[in-house]
Amino acid sequence: VASRILVTGGAGYIGSHTAKLLRLEGIEPVVYDNLTTGNRSAVRWGPFVQGDILDGRHLIEVIEAHQPDAVIHFAASAYVGESVADPAKYYNNNVRGTLSLLDACRQTGVDKVIFSSSCATYGVPAVLPIDEATPQAPINPYGKTKLVAEHMLADYAAAFALNYVSLRYFNACGADPEGDLGEWHDPETHLIPRALMAAAGRIPHLEIFGEDYDTPDGTCVRDYIHVADLASAHVLAYRHLAKGGGNVALNLGTGRGFSIKEVLRTIGEITGHDVPVVFRRRRAGDPPALYADAGLACRTLGFLPRYSDLETIVRTAAPFFGLEVRS
Ligand code: UDP
Repeated sequence: VASRILVTGGAGYIGSHTAKLLRLEGIEPVVYDNLTTGNRSAVRWGPFVQGDILDGRHLIEVIEAHQPDAVIHFAASAYVGESVADPAKYYNNNVRGTLSLLDACRQTGVDKVIFSSSCATYGVPAVLPIDEATPQAPINPYGKTKLVAEHMLADYAAAFALNYVSLRYFNACGADPEGDLGEWHDPETHLIPRALMAAAGRIPHLEIFGEDYDTPDGTCVRDYIHVADLASAHVLAYRHLAKGGGNVALNLGTGRGFSIKEVLRTIGEITGHDVPVVFRRRRAGDPPALYADAGLACRTLGFLPRYSDLETIVRTAAPFFGLEVRS
């Protein structure tokens, strides 16, 4: 029997890359997206249904019509800064929305859920690297809503016939290695696309938020994971659940951290364009360093990043900003 998966938020950045890989693996992605931040033109690998996860009745209709074997749940609001200014939006879309989706799954008998969680659920960890046993103490509403959703999944799994994998992404970046999909956020706030915009002259300069952190070069350190690797982790998580694997939450990172200055150096080397920068004060809520202990995803799913070296990240992302890459 051919598999089919409902992909909420499948018109978004990570969702669309995952939908493409599902199709390649012989699994039909049925994309469900309200297009507030998603992009219709990124839905090219299966049916598209425009809808909101808060609309439980519509979700049930769509599930009954398409009979998916599982749900991959990307649909969410995902700007940390906005979540501080407008927490209602985040509790509504991320908490109520996830509850609505889980109830639709329950009513229709969909018993496998793969959830987009975040390293933002850890807050500012006392110890690095961050493994999955690190206490989750988010410091902004975005991270809190992702943590509540993780708890809902665990409680539903304990009480009802539901199995899940929560995937805690570190810093998603890069673009489809075949050039079919890129990264687009509006507004764009993430480091690598902002730096590429500056290198391409589309913005006057990159603002670097803080040069006085207690890190080797004073700039923040993050664990950058390529979106194509994230996509493959979702397929592996589905296979894990399909063969009866247990409920689990897993970090998706490389286990290595890079500073902002290291990222900018790689962009200069690969594109031949220096990134013009200005230094600014620290951004509120930024921990100095975050990187994963990536071992559990490897042991549980066989997940190994293939595209997540900085050079490949920059090579795949740069063309979407009109930058050529050196061979
Ligand atoms: N950053 C920066 N300038 C920007 C965007 C980001 O200096 O225009 C820094 C940010 O302060 C953080 C790192 O780059 O230290 C990664 O930020 P991003 O927003 O990409 O991801 P986050 O780690 O916040 O999820």
